[in-house]
Amino acid sequence: MGFEIRRIEIERKTYKLVKTFRISLGAMSESTVIQIRLILNGGTVGLGEASPSFKISGEYLNSVETALRELSQEFIGEDVRNYRVLFDRIDEMFRTFPSAKSALQYAILDALTAEYGLTPFEFFGGAKRKIVSDKTVGIDDVNTMVEDAKNIKGEGFRTIKIKIDSVDFALDVVPKIADATGNIGYIVDANQALKPKEAVEVAEKLHSLGVNVLVLEQPVFKHDYDGLRFVRERSPFPVAADESLYTRYDAFKLARDGCVDVFNIKLMKSGLSDGMAIVEIARSAGITLMIGCMGESSLGITQSIDFAAGLGYFTYLDLDCPFLHAEDSKYRGYIRDGDELTVLDREEREKLKD
Ligand SMILES: [Mg+2]
Repeated sequence: MGFEIRRIEIERKTYKLVKTFRISLGAMSESTVIQIRLILNGGTVGLGEASPSFKISGEYLNSVETALRELSQEFIGEDVRNYRVLFDRIDEMFRTFPSAKSALQYAILDALTAEYGLTPFEFFGGAKRKIVSDKTVGIDDVNTMVEDAKNIKGEGFRTIKIKIDSVDFALDVVPKIADATGNIGYIVDANQALKPKEAVEVAEKLHSLGVNVLVLEQPVFKHDYDGLRFVRERSPFPVAADESLYTRYDAFKLARDGCVDVFNIKLMKSGLSDGMAIVEIARSAGITLMIGCMGESSLGITQSIDFAAGLGYFTYLDLDCPFLHAEDSKYRGYIRDGDELTVLDREEREKLKD
């Protein structure tokens, strides 16, 4: 046994996507991530991954990589059993790099639990060994999006997330997808593209058409908390905060002011430390939980799967980013069957490590 951190290695990896993925904020055809190997003095390895998004979080890839390379070295010699103290230090150091925070905090927990023959899934509570994810249709021409949605349903998914960027586009594409896929249940995500009154118009019209919208996600600009509340008070569908929610302080204000019904937590926005705090604020305030992702590989998404499945409080799981990758990391903490993800135990995971 040995709980002290001996070495931390940082590596940049790029994975190609199956097709270009577009949202209201931009498009991507590949995903570059920063992976961490944290090695304890007994040789046990913990893994982690940062998937920075410049357009969403303002995290520039080179800055995240440099910060991780240099600042993570300050943790050499630290004991991972003191993870809470280490998390607080990571919060202070990586305030403007939430994806780096997630990678380093997860690698610490991965190594700590591995030393005991467990996984972070069990550390978080081991609530649900199997969870169900949705899959997303990115913005494209309407016919392509309808075909993509039909294929997603054909793959076995029971919930589809639909990206939209204007009132007219939403009112065209969402009912067509609903018609073509049996009105199964949709999360409509505007990524901040609408004005508050436009968002209400979209919600009311989709409702009058009988479209089964489960959640209207981040309809307005991220700093427009009053706008979110305006939409929430008028929308027939639950309203979610995504880009408006990074830290526990955001969560507290959104809850206190009654801005939304749903929190979309992403570890790449919050790390594990703020992620855990946001979960408790949501539970106290009666806010429904969703978990989402950026461009993580199957290594990176394992962080969110362990977190969400281990805690078990999440109603909506949008953990589809590795399903959009044409190339992927060999390591993963789960196996996928249709829309079902089953968490692997430590022994099964170790076989997948290089
Ligand atoms: Mg979103």
